[in-house]
Amino acid sequence: MGKILLFYKYVNVEQPEATQAWFKELCGNLGLTGRIILAHEGINGTVGGSDESAAQFIEAMNAHPLFFGMDIKDAPGDEKYFPRMRIVVKNEIVHLGIDPKELTVENTGTHLTPAQAHELLNSKPENLVIIDTRNNYEARVGTIPGSMIPDKRYFREFPEYIDEHLDELKDKQVLMFCSGGIRCERASAYVKEKGVSQEVYQIEGGIHRYIEQFPDGHFKGTYYVFDGRIGVKVSDDILTNCDICSIPCDFYVNCMNGRCNKQFIACPECIEKHQECCSTTCKELVETEAVPVRKKPVIAVEERFKLLEAQQ
Ligand SMILES: [Zn+2]
Ligand SMILES: [Zn+2]
Repeated sequence: MGKILLFYKYVNVEQPEATQAWFKELCGNLGLTGRIILAHEGINGTVGGSDESAAQFIEAMNAHPLFFGMDIKDAPGDEKYFPRMRIVVKNEIVHLGIDPKELTVENTGTHLTPAQAHELLNSKPENLVIIDTRNNYEARVGTIPGSMIPDKRYFREFPEYIDEHLDELKDKQVLMFCSGGIRCERASAYVKEKGVSQEVYQIEGGIHRYIEQFPDGHFKGTYYVFDGRIGVKVSDDILTNCDICSIPCDFYVNCMNGRCNKQFIACPECIEKHQECCSTTCKELVETEAVPVRKKPVIAVEERFKLLEAQQ
């Protein structure tokens, strides 16, 4: 098995389109898959490939005038963990829905190393508020218990959530976290800008770096990831239930009905019974060929069970 690399950097990219072409050639040559978002404000990416390709990619980044010195995280995986390579140019490298000129990372919250964040969580000051800035379906399977969890499907709904909850942040020490750290960079700037909290912190490198250093720390359950693995078990705690039969379970599956495409939680028995569909209705539609059948996931369900077993 090779590697999945995760990285971001806020840096002034003068010509994102030219940079996009450069990345297309590089990733094509190295046989990488995944997704890279470029904007004038920087880069955000996840790629998968062989160990050798991953090493060459890191080398190319460190030799690049803009992207040298990026914190590049890795996880087990390879080019089969993503359906294709997508390199796109957007206005923001994470879609918060606020113009990067209006909200920059200049005013970002104080970075705490995983060890400092762990210390803060251990000492639990009375005025500490933790915010899980990830989406509701991510936090559903794993989080730091006691966190405020915005019930939102998209990150762009985050500012509205904060506006509605300012009272709860008043005079508080706010500790924010996301998966790799990138979402907190501008989200923490947004909270700081409101001027109500005593301090605004973010976990440097997000949950990814935190659980690397503190696998038995404050994060409980499954860490949701945006590659073929979907979930990585961190602790034995199961925070939610099968959407079909309600037994404790936190395993995500994508409905095989191509028109439904719902990502839902299902236990092994329900996966089998409904043949990877979210409901009896979807199962019947697929069986009678009344709808297009979804392409098999990049990592088959059986493979993912094996990966989880191997992890334990
Ligand atoms: Zn079930
Ligand atoms: Zn369905």
